Amino acid sequence: MRNDGPIIGVLGIQGDVEENVSQTRTAFNYLGRRGDVRIVRYAKDISGISGLILPGGESTVVSNLATVNGELFREIADVVSRGMPVLGTCAGMIILSTRAHDRVIGQTKQKLLSLLNIVVERNAFGRQKDSFEADMEIPMMGKRPFKGIFIRAPIVSKAEEGVQVIAKIEDKVVAVKQDNIVATAFHPELGSDHRFHLHLIKSASEFRDRTNLMRGVGFEPTNP
Ligand code: GLN
Repeated sequence: MRNDGPIIGVLGIQGDVEENVSQTRTAFNYLGRRGDVRIVRYAKDISGISGLILPGGESTVVSNLATVNGELFREIADVVSRGMPVLGTCAGMIILSTRAHDRVIGQTKQKLLSLLNIVVERNAFGRQKDSFEADMEIPMMGKRPFKGIFIRAPIVSKAEEGVQVIAKIEDKVVAVKQDNIVATAFHPELGSDHRFHLHLIKSASEFRDRTNLMRGVGFEPTNP
């Protein structure tokens, strides 16, 4: 097995952390690359990673902890705006968005990263008991349909400049891409399809190679 995969970070505050670690490992195995998965809890954990996953869970909890650990969120915002690939699933999509609405309370006051130009409506399909699975056509992931698992899932109610819609259920937008950011209303960390994690690893490898190259060529001190 080649030991040359990038390090993928998984935000380890709350939610589907282990499920994302395990889905990323499965994707590394499939590629025949060793790679590493690191749980990110503090700002210092970001150093050396080339891709990041913001797991599904409960976005209000993540937002509250983000207020406590502002440094971690500033660091995430910094690396993602410098092009580091990120995958946000469900609550992770909400955290990445610029505005979140809730049918009951209107615009939520939760702290968001505002990196992805979308407005989300939280819990758009109902409560936990209204969870469902759906096969979707996602051309970016190839011909085979992708089984999305939706648990108190949001929808994208508005996709603004630079946002590409990559999956819909009827007329509802449930996955988007904006440059290095991919976000899904469903949970690709649950179930047996690791194509979103594979995509993240490939983008993270490219990002790592690109930044290494820049370090080597652009930023090396010239001879005195
Ligand atoms: N409803 C949750 C929220 O608004 C997200 C649910 C999930 O990640 N499964 O944060």
